[in-house]
Amino acid sequence: MIYLVEDEESIRELVVYTLKNTGLEARGFPSATEFWEALRAQTPSLVLLDIMLPGEDGLEILRRLREAPDTARLPVMMLTARGTEYDKVRGLELGADDYLAKPPGMMELVARVKRLLRRTDSDSEPEEYRSGGLFVSIPRRLVTVNGVEVSLTLKEFGLLAFLLKNAGIVMTRDRLLTAVWGYNYEGETRTIDTHILTLRGKLGPSGSVIQTVRGVGYKAGEVR
Ligand code: CA
Repeated sequence: MIYLVEDEESIRELVVYTLKNTGLEARGFPSATEFWEALRAQTPSLVLLDIMLPGEDGLEILRRLREAPDTARLPVMMLTARGTEYDKVRGLELGADDYLAKPPGMMELVARVKRLLRRTDSDSEPEEYRSGGLFVSIPRRLVTVNGVEVSLTLKEFGLLAFLLKNAGIVMTRDRLLTAVWGYNYEGETRTIDTHILTLRGKLGPSGSVIQTVRGVGYKAGEVR
């Protein structure tokens, strides 16, 4: 899934249409508000950001993505107005993976998107897990159960990924809170239980990969 934030409707529709035509799932959002809302429901494998937007601009969105541990490594491509060297430099400083001048040529856009998706795949350690019908790719932020994509929130994905990376090791609720919500999180450990419950539900028959260790916490069963 690719997310695009672009306030110009014609460009937004063209990009989404083009990406879908090449077999890539894509959704477009006119402003940051809709984008953050969608991000809470599903983590995309790549984000395309226009810079000049009403309200929060693309650079601010990028900064916030990079600050959050869940999205710190999410591939981001900036769409920059032609000749705005400053935006380009600023975007790269803030951790954008690539940039493309607007209006983007569709052939080039698709080529760059594919290249970035490939690069992110091969740069990362082979962080892929299979267990029964469950397949999880950490770099691609992809979870499927029996071949069907499961849409997870950032925290659900974070929990699943952390447990899988540490498969077989029991994790306390506090440890999970720290790992997924961050060091300064003041929430209650019950938060973990509710998230695990939802996560198991979404994973359906594969939900049993997350095992409850009574009185201690949770662990992922054996995976390869
Ligand atoms: Ca714009």
